[in-house]
Order: sequence, then C-alpha cells, then structure tokens
Amino acid sequence: FSTAAVIEEPITPPVQINCTQLLINGQFVDSASGKTFPTLDPRTGEVIAHVAEGDAEDINRAVSAARKAFDEGPWPRMTAYDRARILLRFADLVEKHSDELAALETWNNGKPYEQAAKSELPLFIRLFHYYAGWADKIHGLTVPADGPYHVQTLHEPIGVAGQIIPWNFPLVMFAWKVGPALACGNTIVLKTAEQTPLTALYVAKLFHEAGLPPGVLNIVSGFGPTAGAALASHMDVDKLAFTGSTDTGKIVLELAARSNLKPVTLELGGKSPFIVCEDADVDKAAELAHFALFFNQGQCCCAGSRTFVHERVYDEFLEKAKARAMRRVVGDPFKKGVEQGPQIDSEQFEKVLSYIKYGIESNAKLECGGGRLGSKGFYIQPTVFSNVQDDMLIAKDEIFGPVQSILKFKDLDEVIKRANATRYGLAAGVFTKNINTANTMSRALRAGTVWINCFDVFDAAIPFGGYKMSGIGREKGIYSLHNYLQVKAVITPLKNP
Ligand code: ADP
Repeated sequence: FSTAAVIEEPITPPVQINCTQLLINGQFVDSASGKTFPTLDPRTGEVIAHVAEGDAEDINRAVSAARKAFDEGPWPRMTAYDRARILLRFADLVEKHSDELAALETWNNGKPYEQAAKSELPLFIRLFHYYAGWADKIHGLTVPADGPYHVQTLHEPIGVAGQIIPWNFPLVMFAWKVGPALACGNTIVLKTAEQTPLTALYVAKLFHEAGLPPGVLNIVSGFGPTAGAALASHMDVDKLAFTGSTDTGKIVLELAARSNLKPVTLELGGKSPFIVCEDADVDKAAELAHFALFFNQGQCCCAGSRTFVHERVYDEFLEKAKARAMRRVVGDPFKKGVEQGPQIDSEQFEKVLSYIKYGIESNAKLECGGGRLGSKGFYIQPTVFSNVQDDMLIAKDEIFGPVQSILKFKDLDEVIKRANATRYGLAAGVFTKNINTANTMSRALRAGTVWINCFDVFDAAIPFGGYKMSGIGREKGIYSLHNYLQVKAVITPLKNP
C-alpha cells in the first residue's frame, strides 16, 4: 500500500487544554453530578482530558440562565449594532488564537491540521463576520393591507435556542448554529458532541472576553440520550437546531413535538451522487470525485459517496480514481502534507470496516484499500470499490468513511433517476463541460445543494440543507435567519375609532 506510513509516535500537539468544565451563565462550572467523561485522541485512542459530563440537571441550569438572559438581560435589548460589534470582536479574538484552536480541533477530532488551520478557522471567522453584518439589517415590513390600517411586521428573536451539534466539524458547526442565533438576538444552550467537546469551550471563553453578557451562550458537554434529549424536550426552549444522523434527527423531532412543539431545524445524513458525464476531463473529474468523498476522512454528511461515471469514460476514470486513492497521504494529522488522519472513534472505525466487509461480500470489486492502517488509533486505508450496484448496502447507506463506491451509467435520464432513488437529498455533484447538461442536472436532482464542476464550497452566504430525509430547513445565508426569528404582525387603525 503506497500511502505515507502512519507515524507510530504521535506528534505532541502545540496547545494546552484549559477549559473542561460546563459553561453556564458566564461561569465555568462542574456538572451537578460531579461526573466527568474522557475525551480521546483519535490518533491513539488515549485519553487527552476529562470533561465535565452534563445531564438533565445541567441542561435545566443552562436553560434557566439562557431564559433569564433573554427575558431580563441586555442581549436582546441592546442595539443591533452593539451586538454586531461583540460578534466582530469575537471573530478578531478567534483569529488571534487560530493556531491553538486549529491544533485543539485536530487533537480532538483527528482532521489534518492544515485543513483546520487554513480552511476551517478562516471559514469560522468569515461566518461570524457575515452574521455580524446581518445583525443590524434584520427588520420587518410595512404591509399594504385592505382597509384603513397601518400594518407592520416586527421580526423578533425567537427566544432560547437549543442547539445540538456533531463531531465531524466541531468549530464550523458551532458557527453555523451560534452565528445566526446571536445575530438575531437570541440566547443559546448548545450541546457539543461527546467525542469533541474541547474547541467549543475554548471559543466560548473568547466570546465572553469579547463582551458577551453572561447567560447568552451556555455550553453543556455530554451525551445524546441524557443531555441532548433533555435539551430537545425542555419546556422552556423555544427552538431546536440539530445536526447529526437521520435516526437521531427523528428522535429529537419527536421529543420537541411531545414537549412544547418547539420548531426544529434538522441537518441530517446523505448519500450524495457525484456524476461524471461523458464529456468530462477525466483527470480533473477523478481528482474532484476523490476530494468529494475523501475530504475530512469521508466524515461529511454531504460526501459524494456514490460516484456515477459514464460508461464511455468509466475505465479511464477508474484507473485514475484508484491511483489517486493509493497516493493519498494518510498519517498523523499534525504532520505537514498529510491529507487524511484517523476516523473519530472506535465505533465509527468499526462501522466503516464493516461496510467495507459488506462491499466485498456483495461482490463489488475492491480496487484498493480495504483495511485498517497501522496498529494504533483509528486509521483506515483509502478504499475504492468499482462495479457497485444501486441495491448494494454500500450504495444505499451513509458509510461516513474513506470508502469510494463507483457506479457505471449510460445516459442522463437514467443517472438522474438513479441519483434521486435515495431517501436522502442533501447534495449532488455534476462534472461536465456542457452547459445544457449542467442546467438539466441542477434542476432535476432532488438535493439542497448542487455543485457543478466543484464540490464542498461552503461560504457563509450559501444556504445549506436537505431535501427528503436529509433534513428540514436551511442553515447559513439569509435563510438561516428565519430559523431564529418570530414574525409579529402589528395592526393599528389609521384613525382613532
Ligand atoms: P453520530 O452517530 O454521528 O454520533 P448522532 O446523530 O448520534 O450522530 O449525534 C449527533 C449529536 O446528537 C451529538 O451531539 C449527540 O450527542 C446527539 N444525540 C445523540 N442521541 C441523541 C438523543 N437521543 N437526543 C438528543 N441528542 C442526541
């Protein structure tokens, strides 16, 4: 196997861990139970810190702090411009601490340091600049109703937002959720993923240094069925935003409905097609398809995990896709030039390996990879399957790992039908030089994002979300603001009665 060797002795991360408690009402505190849980280094599986473990009691404490900050505190009452200035000061502080934050993200998550430092931290900062820009541009309308009335709409913050985020992009997911909620004047209780609690606590500390009033942003580390479920079902939470698996999305939607019917936005799983048309430049298509699947160890909800290739270019594409996967540099994510680090934890590692086994058993052709890499941590060989058929499990389920499935197609109508024949609808990629093909495909594909000749472009201004069982609602862009606002109609007679 020709990928770079996994380094057996992990590089020491250039960062200290300072924040491991819960953040409630502007204070770092232990959990009510006093319990902690270990957070691990995916490179070795070893413990890097013990973190306070929040459960229902801590969620109660955090929600009452957020409630008080919303009902009585300065945050929703200060001018929008003042709120924007705090968001901007926060973005500046994050920029100043970018190197440590990128190192902490890599240490806790296993993603390449260069990716965290050069792409995710800048995106995080950009997101807060973008939302700071919105804060003082959120306003209602005057409405020309029939009758002698002055009618206006007020766009008010919705209240206390509960937010549950996953482990694959801990900082970026924090920004997608926290940015719009704060720009609109809400207060927040955020539950991080149990695998990756560290960076959210670090940035939350910076937020308070930037002048965020206590109680506006509360962070509870802990597990899904305890802390997460308590947040989703809390009677005093006015809105829930969730990113994670489709199965858990169904659970939190039900908890929200059974409790106080809080509105819920969901960003869930995917099985996104990446379609290589017959006119494609095969070298470029193979490179982009590789990126679409393998980026972030394959741990992306929008990963291009069904690579459909036109029969005329199939053989050539396959050779190139395989060669590229075999050249992929896997190793210690702190090492320069490394493209792929370990999977997040043993559960995901085992899950990915079992899908590789399903692939082999279902007679897909294993072109390269297929097993673990090294003897420590959760590294997996970049794996490519060809001859994948639509009804195979590896073509239907979200694998969430470095496993590319290549399928052959004959014509556009056929590939549109097959690409859409999934319970998911998060994203799609199309590679073509033909503008008509691009236009046809972008309209026919049932997905919240269609990338034409590009993939994983995630600017703050671009909305993101899913059709079908990939979710409800949109995050980022102007659309995300609607998730965090109530619209109030105010009607006044033009003349006193
Ligand atoms: P994954 O399987 O990738 O870990 P999950 O959907 O289980 O994805 O996790 C995403 C987030 O949802 C995490 O913060 C997790 O703790 C949380 N979560 C998991 N189960 C529940 C639940 N029953 N109620 C609320 N949140 C949950």
